Amino acid sequence: MIKKILVLHTGGTISMQADASGAVVTSQDNPMNHVSNPLEGVEVHSLDFLNLPSPHIKPKHMLDLYQKIKQDADFYDGIVITHGTDTLEETAYFLDTMEIPQIPIVLTGAMRSSNELGSDGVYNYLSALRVASDDKSADKGVLVVMNDEVHAAKYVTKTHTTNVSTFQTPTHGPLGLIMKQEVLYFKNAEPRVRFDLHSIEGLVPIIPVYAGMTDELLNMLDLDQLNGLIIQAFGAGNIPKETAKKLETLLQKGIPIALVSRCFNGIAEPVYAYQGGGVQLRRAGIFFVKELNAQKARLKLLIALNAGLKGQELRNYMEG
Ligand code: ASP
Repeated sequence: MIKKILVLHTGGTISMQADASGAVVTSQDNPMNHVSNPLEGVEVHSLDFLNLPSPHIKPKHMLDLYQKIKQDADFYDGIVITHGTDTLEETAYFLDTMEIPQIPIVLTGAMRSSNELGSDGVYNYLSALRVASDDKSADKGVLVVMNDEVHAAKYVTKTHTTNVSTFQTPTHGPLGLIMKQEVLYFKNAEPRVRFDLHSIEGLVPIIPVYAGMTDELLNMLDLDQLNGLIIQAFGAGNIPKETAKKLETLLQKGIPIALVSRCFNGIAEPVYAYQGGGVQLRRAGIFFVKELNAQKARLKLLIALNAGLKGQELRNYMEG
């Protein structure tokens, strides 16, 4: 049976070229549209949905992608999205939190542009098509395919500025591997709460903590604009005591605050009871977000607020 795959190009290095000086520039003619498809039984329908470097991608673009997927999914067996690697994990996580269909949905990109030596774009693109047309990839949530690995959107992160093996899943490892002849899965994605959003707005910034921090950054926030806050805490989930004191005043004003660790690996949890320690922070009302980095926790809170979650329901979702 022929598998029909919808490809939505959004820009990023995979669609770019290096100029004579070596600087990587955007192009109107996406090289992926010239790749001949060697995969038997796979029919590709591609669309230049966006053409943006991924630092220009906003939650609204992610929502547009979700609406497009919802609208077209019935006509396809799988979807591939090409994307810049800088914010790829955020778009993948956003889509994974929406009411997506159960067909394979795969994001991919490239670390080297199309005319650079050792360019990985075509290879990753064809790998993504293989994964999206494989029945085993269905109902696994949104997948990220790069460098012969398949990662779950929830956990994957960009770990290196330039290396082609940049995408890693620190705490859990990948869901599967792309071998020469088959896609091998050794894990399944977990079920999760999904939302059907029609709009997304609000201000939820990320504030990292550092040794010697007091309340200086928090004092600069315009509280009238602020809908929520993500704190990137030390270690298991601790912050300086002066920062904690200021956060308590924000909580009293009704601003939801969620906390993740600035550590690359592991999960924040309330362990220490000293001033600014996780036990006190959680007691004060800060949500401890499990297994997400700051950029995904930010999207989680933004999505939850746009879905209208409040009070205990918001806490349960953020900590679930
Ligand atoms: N800066 C590029 C982008 O995210 C990097 C990439 O695509 O890998 O658009």
